[in-house]
Amino acid sequence: MKSLIDQHGRKIRKLRLSLTDKCNLRCHYCMPVDATFMDEDKNLSPDDYFEIVKELCSYGLQELRLTGGEPLMRKSFDEIAYKLGTLPLKKIGLTTNGIFLDKYLTVLKETGIHHLNISLDSLDEANFKKITHGNQLKRILKNIEEAQKLGLQIKINVVAMKGINDHEFFDFVEYSAKTGIEVRFLEIMRIGFALEKQNDQFISAQEMMNMFKTKYELEKIQMQLDSTSFNYRLSNGAHIGFIASESQAFCGHCSRWRLSADGVMRACLLKDDGISIKNTTEIERDNIYRTLLGMKPFMRPAEVTHQMNAIGG
Ligand code: SAM
Ligand code: SF4
Repeated sequence: MKSLIDQHGRKIRKLRLSLTDKCNLRCHYCMPVDATFMDEDKNLSPDDYFEIVKELCSYGLQELRLTGGEPLMRKSFDEIAYKLGTLPLKKIGLTTNGIFLDKYLTVLKETGIHHLNISLDSLDEANFKKITHGNQLKRILKNIEEAQKLGLQIKINVVAMKGINDHEFFDFVEYSAKTGIEVRFLEIMRIGFALEKQNDQFISAQEMMNMFKTKYELEKIQMQLDSTSFNYRLSNGAHIGFIASESQAFCGHCSRWRLSADGVMRACLLKDDGISIKNTTEIERDNIYRTLLGMKPFMRPAEVTHQMNAIGG
């Protein structure tokens, strides 16, 4: 089997696949209310996704995560899911804001897309609206319950923001203890639209841990080397994690590439440059993959100006 291993010994085994840059929310750290999106005609087709991922499986790809923008807004989501579900992957996941989950639970169950990361920055309706400019919190919470009943594996992603949702952190811990769902707190990253806010709103994972230690005992959970989070079991039964992309970057063990909906493959979320693999031959793509291996940074780049939703978060 061919493989994709860079000069630091990092093996590419995970791909974040963006299905669209569009979204039905406007999280204030991700995109402006008047965001503009790429022309849908430029999107990769369901067959393109299938062929590319199939090829990457022959290079050792093991895990796939569908993302965006909001992946469940992609009109051909079902078709893409059914095609990708036939490939020899160890794990297929979905990162979603959860609004349209009710429409797709059966598709997810049937296609083996069983690992859901659901972004939820507030459990309070007014605050949820302030952060996302959307008002479907009840629907999202209900969808999470339904997904859990179906046996799908769920993690909640909370972008931690000082003065915005830090007063809700303990509520999320209680939510985790009550539901058994892992809640992960993400440091707000210096990327795209968040660059303006990051300085004022940033809270480090260490600050959050110190906060939790005032109320609970924290027991460390062993994670895989290329995991993005470090996790703890709390004395109230909650399972929490931290994605400390800013204060404790994990580039040294990164095993991910990203493919945007318009077919640009990137070796790193925090690098502006990528290479289009749209309408390329197998030989051209092999060369592109080799070039990308050399483009993967080992030290964390400080920041990037491109928008997270356009790359695939
Ligand atoms: N729409 C889907 C969602 O929100 O889950 C998928 C795409 S979204 C870009 C993927 C993840 O990136 C979400 O968990 C979101 O909260 C996170 N995110 C976006 N901008 C971020 C930033 N500046 N810092 C940290 N996380 C960010
Ligand atoms: Fe949409 Fe996800 Fe960005 Fe929020 S974080 S605006 S849900 S793409």
